[in-house]
Amino acid sequence: MAERLGEKTSVRYCIVGGGYAAAAAIEGIRSRDAEGSILLLSRENHRPYHRPILSKDLWYGEVTLERLPIHTDDWYGEQRVDVRLRREVVELDVENRRLWDERGQAIEYEDLLLATGCRPRRLQAEGAETSSVRYFRDLEDYLDLEARLDRLQHVTLVGGGFISVEMAAALRSRRKEVTYVLADEYPLHRLLPRELGLPLLDHLRELGVETVSGDTLTHIEESPGLVHARTLLGNELDTQLVIVDQGAEPQVDLAEAAGLAIDDGIVVDEFGRTSDPNVWAAGDVAEFPYRALGQIMRVEGSDHADAHGRVVGANMAGAERAYDELPLKSFRIGELMFEGVGELWARLATEILWVEPGREGVVFYLRDDVIRGVLMINMRDRLEWARGLVREARAATAAERSALVTAKA
Ligand SMILES: Cc1cc2nc3c(=O)[nH]c(=O)nc-3n(C[C@H](O)[C@H](O)[C@H](O)COP(=O)(O)OP(=O)(O)OC[C@H]3O[C@@H](n4cnc5c(N)ncnc54)[C@H](O)[C@@H]3O)c2cc1C
Repeated sequence: MAERLGEKTSVRYCIVGGGYAAAAAIEGIRSRDAEGSILLLSRENHRPYHRPILSKDLWYGEVTLERLPIHTDDWYGEQRVDVRLRREVVELDVENRRLWDERGQAIEYEDLLLATGCRPRRLQAEGAETSSVRYFRDLEDYLDLEARLDRLQHVTLVGGGFISVEMAAALRSRRKEVTYVLADEYPLHRLLPRELGLPLLDHLRELGVETVSGDTLTHIEESPGLVHARTLLGNELDTQLVIVDQGAEPQVDLAEAAGLAIDDGIVVDEFGRTSDPNVWAAGDVAEFPYRALGQIMRVEGSDHADAHGRVVGANMAGAERAYDELPLKSFRIGELMFEGVGELWARLATEILWVEPGREGVVFYLRDDVIRGVLMINMRDRLEWARGLVREARAATAAERSALVTAKA
C-alpha cells in the first residue's frame, strides 16, 4: 500500500487515469512485480469501466450497469491497488518525481503512467457553452442523459463519428425524435468509403433520424425547456438537447506543462517510455511506434488501450517488451458487425469485396496495391487472417485480393 509521509504519499507506481489503459497497466505491473505499491488516481467517479458500452448495449437493455466495471471492487483490493477517485492531477514535476492533485496532495513516485486518454473536441458555435450542449464520453454523461430522457422529446446530434451514429440509433430505439447534423456527406467519413457511408446514412434515415449533411451548428440560444439553433447553411431548428461528437483530442496538458515531448499525443518509444525515463504513457493519449505498420501513430480504441496499457505496465516493472500488437477496431451498426485492423483511412485507396452484397464482405485499404488495412463486415473469426495480411504488407493484384476473399468465404 502507498506509504503516507505527512501530507505526502510515496509510491512505487503511480497511474493517472481511470480507463482501459490504466486498468490493464495494473495487470501488466502485477505480472512482474507482486509487491510494489500502486496508486491509481482518476478524475472520474467510478473505477475503470467498459466505455464503449455507454453508446451501445446499455440503450437496448442488452447489458445493465452492473456489467460495466472492467474489474470488481474486490479485485483492486486483491491486487493491493490504492484507488483514489474524483482526484484530478493538476501538476507534474518530473525532475523530482512528484505530482499534485487538485486538493494540493503531493505524491512521490518511482515510475508514473499517464493514461489520461482523450476529451471531446468542443463545438465552436455562439452559445455552445450553454448547459443544453453536451458531450458524451463518461459514465456520468450516460447517467445524466438517461435521467433526463423522459423529459426529452427531441435531441440534436452534431458531428460524424461513431458515437453520434450509435447514439442516433439508440435514441430512436427509445422513441426520441432525432436530428443529426453532420459536417460531411456521410458519417464515419474518415473511415468508410463512400459506397459504405451513404448506405449507412440511408440506414439512419430508415430508423427515422432526420439527417442534415454538410452542415454544422453556428448559433445556439437557450430558453426554458427549448433550444433554438441555427446552422452554417441557414437551417433553423428547435430542439431540447444538443449532443456534440466532433471527435476527441488527447489530454496532454499535464505532460506538456511538465516539459515532456508532445506531438499528436505524448510521445513514447516502443516500450511506452516518454522523454523522461520514469514517466510512461499508454492508450489513447500516447503517440507510439506502431511497429506492425512501420509508422509513428496515435490510436484511439479500447482494444489498443487495453493491450498497450498491459505491455507498458509490464515495462514499468522492468519487462523491456516492445509493443508489437495489431489491435482490433470494432463497432456495430444495426445488424452489421465491423471488425478492422491496420490503417483504416478512407483517404487510402479502398476496395470493397462482397461475399454477400450488403451483408458480408471485406474492405481493403491499399497503398500502391499493398494491403495496409482490412475491415471485415459480418465476417467473424477472420481476425488472424486479416492481421496476417496487414503484417505481410506485400503488394497484391486485384485478382489476388479477390481470390483471398473467395478462399476465406
Ligand atoms: C461512447 C464511446 C463509445 C466508444 N466505442 C468504442 C468502440 O466501439 N470501439 C473502440 O475501439 N473504442 C471505442 N471508444 C473509444 C474507447 O473507449 C477509448 O479508445 C478507450 O477508452 C481509451 O482508453 P484510455 O484508457 O486510453 O483512455 P480513457 O478511457 O479516455 O481514460 C482516461 C482516463 O483518465 C482520466 N483523466 C484524464 N486526465 C486526468 C487527470 N489530470 N487526473 C486524473 N484523471 C484524469 C479520465 O477521467 C479517464 O478516466 C468509445 C468511446 C466512447 C466515449
